[in-house]
Amino acid sequence: MFSKIPKPNTLAFQFTAWYSAVFIASSLLLFGLAYLLVNTSLRERDRAGILTALNEYAARYADDGTEAFSEHPDRSSAGAGRFFVRVTESDNTTVFLNDPERWVRLDLRKLHAQPAPDQVDWVDLPLIDSHNWEIASKRLTGGRILQVGAGTEQREDVLEQFVGVFAAVMLPVILVGLAGGSLFAVRALRPIRHLIQTVRAITETGRLDARVPMEGAWGELHDLARLVNQMLDRIARLITGMRDALDNVAHDLRTPIARLRGRAEDALQSNPDPVVSQEALTSCLEESEEILTMLNTLMDISEAETGTLALDRRSIDLTDVLANVVDLYRDVTDEKHLLVVLSPSKDLRVNADPNRMRQVLGNLLDNAVKYTPSGGRIDIEGYRNGQQAVVTVRDTGSGISPEDLPKIWDRLYRGDKSRSQRGLGLGLSLVKAIVHAHGGSVDVASSPGSGSCFTVTLPLGSGLAR
Ligand code: ADP
Repeated sequence: MFSKIPKPNTLAFQFTAWYSAVFIASSLLLFGLAYLLVNTSLRERDRAGILTALNEYAARYADDGTEAFSEHPDRSSAGAGRFFVRVTESDNTTVFLNDPERWVRLDLRKLHAQPAPDQVDWVDLPLIDSHNWEIASKRLTGGRILQVGAGTEQREDVLEQFVGVFAAVMLPVILVGLAGGSLFAVRALRPIRHLIQTVRAITETGRLDARVPMEGAWGELHDLARLVNQMLDRIARLITGMRDALDNVAHDLRTPIARLRGRAEDALQSNPDPVVSQEALTSCLEESEEILTMLNTLMDISEAETGTLALDRRSIDLTDVLANVVDLYRDVTDEKHLLVVLSPSKDLRVNADPNRMRQVLGNLLDNAVKYTPSGGRIDIEGYRNGQQAVVTVRDTGSGISPEDLPKIWDRLYRGDKSRSQRGLGLGLSLVKAIVHAHGGSVDVASSPGSGSCFTVTLPLGSGLAR
């Protein structure tokens, strides 16, 4: 049980301390208000009794003078004793005092009241060594002053009991509140502790598979745990992707570099024949060209992904870019007997880098040409959809298997059946990175045997550069 008590340097402890302080302060405030209310209403009740007696004595005095005071109205049936009754001259000399022996402990000199006619003056007079007396004074006909009072001991007893009951109730309530508060704080902050443990596991042991447990988390802390887990999933995916990409780059570079080296060695080992040397140098140039293209494309992709790719953005019409790209591939498509149908709507203005857009649409058309057998058909459409410009490149080619679909956007990924075709496996990664850098998106719908449809969506008009 004691393991649940929060340590002083923890948030749970702070929560408990604040919660308890607020709880105790509001209980005390509540008690203070209740005390005031009870005190006021008891006081009102006592004063009403004194006033009734005062008026009764005044009426009797008007009839018979002080003679009439031999019979006293009882203060209460509970036997709280009689009223204090005194008649004075206006200089405070006593004319009548109902029970002189009883009131010796009252300092009557302090009872020098001078109430205005038809007014009642109130004086609180302490009985020596004991409770207070509350005395009302009223001017009688003839100038004398009538004083009637009663002790406050009954009221004080009730208030004392009230304080006693409050103390008896409050102590256990505060203890229960403290225990409940600390239990609540410890439980409510459990997800935060899980979060700390998870981050510690990752930073100290490098365990990237550690995740924040979700049980016991609710509300904002549940959202936080979920978001942190999503972030960790994403980071893990990115790191795995980077590792794979690095492996792929190393693997893909090894072959052309090995070929390059082999060619150079062959040329050096053979007799110095200028024709052989010429061929070897040409081959080396081609190989190095391929390596350079691969490295440049990889650089472009990572710059586009990190937002550092320099984009020469201007208002361009995608219709023109499409026509341009289709023209560029005319010879290849004719040679392969592919029917290319271009049907763009007019005025597809976007704010984009024209060269990069040519690269995007060129890569999509290049793939459609590569993966569509001779005699097939390629449909290129451009249209507006709300505030978006949409371009689709649809072919009747081999299509992509469901297992390959999520991977085709990865760097250097090439479908198994595509190995026979030229390519580096970087075309679609570049397409995606450039389109994203322009604030757009790219998607694919494809199934084996029924062709593929790539869709590029870009914000229309003069969208701002990211
Ligand atoms: P590359 O074409 O150089 O292999 P890409 O990044 O352009 O690299 O494409 C990745 C893979 O996606 C290809 O290897 C191929 O398997 C698949 N692919 C892309 N476009 C198409 C298409 N139009 N039809 C069928 N498969 C495609």
